[in-house]
Amino acid sequence: MKFLKTLVAFLLCMSLLLLAGCGNQNASGDSASASGASSASSQTSSVSGTLTVKMLNVGQGDAILIETPEQTVLVDTSDVDERDKLKKELKKAGVKNIDKVILTHPHADHIGGMDVLFDGEYKIGMIYDNGMPSTSKLFTGYLKKAKAQGVKRQGLKAGDVLDLGGGARFEVLSLGADLVKQGQAKGYKHDPNNESVVGRLVFGSFTMLFTGDAEKETEAAILQSHRDGVKSLVLKAPHHGSHTSSSKAYLDAVQPEVCLISCGAGNDYGHPHKETLAAYKKIKANVFETDKNGTITITTDGKTYDVKGEK
Ligand SMILES: [Zn+2]
Repeated sequence: MKFLKTLVAFLLCMSLLLLAGCGNQNASGDSASASGASSASSQTSSVSGTLTVKMLNVGQGDAILIETPEQTVLVDTSDVDERDKLKKELKKAGVKNIDKVILTHPHADHIGGMDVLFDGEYKIGMIYDNGMPSTSKLFTGYLKKAKAQGVKRQGLKAGDVLDLGGGARFEVLSLGADLVKQGQAKGYKHDPNNESVVGRLVFGSFTMLFTGDAEKETEAAILQSHRDGVKSLVLKAPHHGSHTSSSKAYLDAVQPEVCLISCGAGNDYGHPHKETLAAYKKIKANVFETDKNGTITITTDGKTYDVKGEK
């Protein structure tokens, strides 16, 4: 009988220990994902299935489709006069439901395709943007349509982490809200490019940095606050490969193996600029461009990844 009591006590102890152990693991995992990735463990997430990122061939603008094992996410929607291309690309990808739309900033070449998403063919879950005010007709028009269709909108701020399902997450690194706060005393003037949502997609050990049109000022600010959290295998070339972005210090911190550039063939801005291409060459990154390669597809299981252009 005494032996039985000891055995029961022992088993009870063991199960309590195990429970405590599990609790600790969960807690540390959660805090890592919420803190914006600074330790080695937070560089990865536990995943199952496949994630694809498609930089859509939508001319001069950005539209990037992320398909996680559970959700479909669209980062930017390209320009007004590229709407037919966006529609064609979404059809090709078989997309009808978009769980999350992330709009990096309210310039036409990023939010110009929003009307396509509201034309009744698509179901939109939620819209995230940089939370900045804008008086542009495109922006106020999109807000009206979102409201009319009952689609919620939320402004993102540094430190936010979006759960994209299947172990994929989007860590928000830099946001206009901070710039505005810092600049308020000096009479801050809005600078949409530099207020772009910058965020890091993490799926297992695969990482990709999304940059909108953020320029060197924002890159410097990000390095100051998140230097340990920017390292990424793939870089979405900031501002369509403009020389006003992709500073040396930023590239040194991100250390991308692959750079993806979204731009239209023969565009008026000369994107991508030769200085940017030279900088990418210097760090030995593989460069893909939508104007030359068409839609660029990355496929990853969270361990290895593969990048392919249509041409
Ligand atoms: Zn742009």
